[in-house]
Amino acid sequence: MAINIKRPNGTEDVLPKDIHKWYTIEKIARETAESYGFSEIRVPTFENTDLFLRSVGETTDVVQKEMYTVMAKESKFTLRPEGTAGTIRSMLQNGLLNEALPQRVFYILSCFRHERPQAGRLREFHQFGLEMAGSASPAADAEVISLAKKVLDRLGIKKIQLYINSIGCPECRAKYHEALRAYFSAREDELCDTCKERLVKNPMRLLDCKSEICQEIGKDAPIILDYLCEECSDHFEKLKKYLTCFGIEYNINPRIVRGLDYYTKTVFEFVTTEIGAQGTVCGGGRYDGLIEQLGGQKVPALGFGMGIERLLLVMEKQGCDFIQPKKCDIYFATMGDAALEKAMSLSQQLREFGYCAEYDLIGRGLKAQMKYANKKNAAFTVVIGDNELESGVVKLKEMTKGDETEIALNEKFVDNFDAVFVDKMFEQLDDVSAAKLFGQMPSEK
Ligand code: ATP
Ligand code: MG
Repeated sequence: MAINIKRPNGTEDVLPKDIHKWYTIEKIARETAESYGFSEIRVPTFENTDLFLRSVGETTDVVQKEMYTVMAKESKFTLRPEGTAGTIRSMLQNGLLNEALPQRVFYILSCFRHERPQAGRLREFHQFGLEMAGSASPAADAEVISLAKKVLDRLGIKKIQLYINSIGCPECRAKYHEALRAYFSAREDELCDTCKERLVKNPMRLLDCKSEICQEIGKDAPIILDYLCEECSDHFEKLKKYLTCFGIEYNINPRIVRGLDYYTKTVFEFVTTEIGAQGTVCGGGRYDGLIEQLGGQKVPALGFGMGIERLLLVMEKQGCDFIQPKKCDIYFATMGDAALEKAMSLSQQLREFGYCAEYDLIGRGLKAQMKYANKKNAAFTVVIGDNELESGVVKLKEMTKGDETEIALNEKFVDNFDAVFVDKMFEQLDDVSAAKLFGQMPSEK
């Protein structure tokens, strides 16, 4: 049998040329979460399979079709298909819920689901997500939604809609399930096999079915908002009021039920039509029963997950800005061993200041070294040979314009380089960004 060592279907390599895009999203996500009082948590990549059966729900697509489960000796483990279950498990196991509430944690992690790979739908994908535990107030729902919105705004993503719904509590849902059963039973024969089973076990899942026929049949199904109890209805009304306070526009979509069983009351999605069918970049909601279901106290909680690959697709499509990738600041082209040693010691000093410094490690000739420096887009180059070592002076060459500055090869080298480098930075700034930097309007200059 031929061996296959290629990347598995539905996984992606992130290459060095694209990593700054990931850094941009991770940085903005972290900073925004921290500005709302959230701290990062890191949990294992795999958990006991039972954890996901208990939390995500046995009748969900994730559990029924998408989990990567391995038998290891006597135990059954599953690669996490989402971040909430492991995070709540960790909060319980480490007693975080006995500390000051609400507890607020966020994470950036990989998830694994055995789905049909396509644009925006992978088998290994990444989420920025968070969980807030300990508040039952709709103000917490508004807080979490506003945080998600802030991340999207700071990333520069436009044309994105917020959809909200309430899927009630177990009490309202019992009545709603009956209504759904009555509605779908009339066309039971036409439903997909999975949905036939769902009709008995968990009829709300029918509304989340991706099959065309089930979606078509579900179009006129009763909506949950007509079945909310007073408390759930009041919660939803307050959420809408608070979102308005934040100045966040929303649409109500009573069809959103979300693909995981643990949700109660508020559910929400941020959706864009810019990247084809997989346009949901963020999904989340409240899950007031989950912590108790996993063996903890009755602590209300909520959270969301944002798909990083989908964020990237939208950002690329919309031409959003990314943090600039780190470039080579200075390249030493050396001739001879003494020059190499000089370059080595100067590079170490420059790196202490945060500069990226490089020199030849292959033994190339001068011409080939300059070619390499060009390929790496080095901002400055310096040639060091016997003459330079003897005179103690080198020419620092700025590579875009070709300007040369003489600087001494002494203990002031780094300071002098720093001064030239900063000058060049200012030269490159246009009027508007210079004004921003100095806090004045261009007209005041
Ligand atoms: P979908 O309806 O698109 O399958 P979902 O309801 O299964 O999404 P969640 O479990 O709520 O998604 O996950 C939160 C977010 O993670 C989604 O909104 C999406 O951005 C991202 N996501 C989910 N599954 C995938 C996947 N297979 N590949 C890439 N991103 C994904
Ligand atoms: Mg899914």
